[in-house]
Amino acid sequence: MSDPFYVTTPIYYVNDAPHIGSAYTTIACDALARYHRARGQDTWFLTGTDEHGQKIEEAAIAAGRTPIAHADHFVARFQDAWKKLDISNDDFIRTTEQRHKDVVADIWRRLEAAGAIYLADYEDWYCVGCESFYTETQLVPGDAPGVFLCPDHKRPVQRLKEQSYFFRMAQYAQPLLDYIEAHPEFIQPDFRKNEVVAFVKAGLRDLSVSRRTFKWGIPVPGAPEHVIYVWIDALTNYMSALGGPGTAQYDKFWPQAVHVIGKDILRHHAVYWPTMLLAAGLPLPKTVFAHGWWTANGQKISKSLGNAIDPLGLAADVGVDALRYFLLRETSFGLDGDFSHDAFLGRLNSDLANDLGNLVHRCVKMTELYAGGVIPRLEPGAFEDHPVHGKLAALAIHARDTVAEHMERLQPTRALEALWELVRGGNKYIDDAAPWVQAKDPARAAELSHTVRHFLEALSWIALMVAPFMPKKAGEILDRLGVPGGPERLLRWPRAWGRELTSGQKVVPGEPLWPRLDDDRKAELKARWGVKPAVRKPDKGGDPKNDKQADKPADKSAGKAPQAAAAPPPGSISYDDFKKLDLRVAEVKTAEKVPKADKLLKLTLDLGGETRTVVAGIAAAYAAEALPGKKVIFLANLAPATIRGVRSEGMILAAGDEQVIGLSAIDCDVPPGTKVR
Ligand SMILES: [Zn+2]
Repeated sequence: MSDPFYVTTPIYYVNDAPHIGSAYTTIACDALARYHRARGQDTWFLTGTDEHGQKIEEAAIAAGRTPIAHADHFVARFQDAWKKLDISNDDFIRTTEQRHKDVVADIWRRLEAAGAIYLADYEDWYCVGCESFYTETQLVPGDAPGVFLCPDHKRPVQRLKEQSYFFRMAQYAQPLLDYIEAHPEFIQPDFRKNEVVAFVKAGLRDLSVSRRTFKWGIPVPGAPEHVIYVWIDALTNYMSALGGPGTAQYDKFWPQAVHVIGKDILRHHAVYWPTMLLAAGLPLPKTVFAHGWWTANGQKISKSLGNAIDPLGLAADVGVDALRYFLLRETSFGLDGDFSHDAFLGRLNSDLANDLGNLVHRCVKMTELYAGGVIPRLEPGAFEDHPVHGKLAALAIHARDTVAEHMERLQPTRALEALWELVRGGNKYIDDAAPWVQAKDPARAAELSHTVRHFLEALSWIALMVAPFMPKKAGEILDRLGVPGGPERLLRWPRAWGRELTSGQKVVPGEPLWPRLDDDRKAELKARWGVKPAVRKPDKGGDPKNDKQADKPADKSAGKAPQAAAAPPPGSISYDDFKKLDLRVAEVKTAEKVPKADKLLKLTLDLGGETRTVVAGIAAAYAAEALPGKKVIFLANLAPATIRGVRSEGMILAAGDEQVIGLSAIDCDVPPGTKVR
């Protein structure tokens, strides 16, 4: 039996309703939990709410209620949202619960007993909004001398001095680095690990872990005038929900913990939390996985733009499973993604209505037409070497194993990609086997029966594998296949080909799982979701005159298709412009640090017989020794430049805005020098 599986979302702060970000994290964890349950693993899925702190205290006063009444209000909204999104959490922890407070006090005492906590004066700049102290270098200068603004809130910070307990985090920098190196799966994805390592290597400061500026929290054991600050309070939820150290549930699940978080709280989970555990002498979680953020239709989501995406509204209009599918399929798990309503509706039509919905419909319909609506027997070994029939079982087994592999690696996006190869393969099988042709030839009766059983079997495998992502629709597919039972039917993973269905069961016809959305319906939905028509902004170098022209109706050439007359969007380049770029695959041969330049590496690249030297600003994300052998996309005809005394002949392409977070790559093995277009 494999290890138990324990997955957690962050606890959500009770000053905001659930939004697309918290829904995304929670749905991803839910899919992982459902997958592991289906594999027969002992699984525990935790979510909850973070309810303490000055901000809650202030918001409650402003709303004219007690802090706990304020928290109750938001907790109900989270619990209701998770119910509507089919979240199967096993527990819901609230930091105001006694079971949590007890374990927080226990962790505090362990840290104290280990000599990892001390009392000292703390003085620095303080932002009430962040509940955080800042050093002067972190602040933004205000409009008068001596006035500084919070980098997040852009409002003045105040000088604050108070007695605070400190956690000796600085002492645990090296043990943490050692741990990270010895446990490659601890921080994922890899580029996030690199960020954390760079941050820790730059040196850690001791962490202030108590406050006297507010009361709404857990008192410090033995010093109730201090309140335990958010770090120890909130992070301990992952243990307190299990009962804490020394309990059976903790012993069973704790070291297996997989913390799925947004990238904004990576440091808290990958530095503060593990150093506390190292100090307390407790085992560290197995994995901290940081996923990216969503933009909305290409724009940052913000209150001022009013472009927040309401997950519950989307789910109510087109079904919760379509939303779950899109969020996990659209963007590689770990990277930032764009929630485009057009892409959402596009996938609904292509992947769900056309691919899977159509497959379900065809399978049931053809079983009625060609097998009297009854699931035929599977004759073992029949048609194994047949060029069409022989392939489907192999495709299904390959999909099953690939989906599992990706789920084990916390890659739901790739799992769905692999699963859709089987969905499309099922449709192709029906096209190739052409049961409507077989049906005309009585001599092919056995083959026809085999064909029907084959596509039904494949569909039952798809239903079981799609269940972690789309539990409702998976259940409906099993209903169509006449599989009796309730939700427990989904707690299974395909085993042997030919064993998932019972012959003689009747299939059950029904409405399409996802009706195709026509343009009118799409426009209606988009209007309801408040999607504004796309407005393209000119690039920095864009010509504002062009922009005006593009806004004018294209009326010069009456009778012509409007598309043909429209000017290209400002900022766009022609294909001829693009062709000027000489992009090639290059293999890194050597990499070394550029002296006196923290961010730069000097690389030699193989371009397929030709060697180039470049200087690349990637040292914060990549260690020099990790690079040789990597293949990257290279701009070969960039004019050479001398950087820090090194002549750089070209440029490698990388992802990241101000800071590089990943190098470009080709998804298969190609020789250096290959053209990229
Ligand atoms: Zn702030």
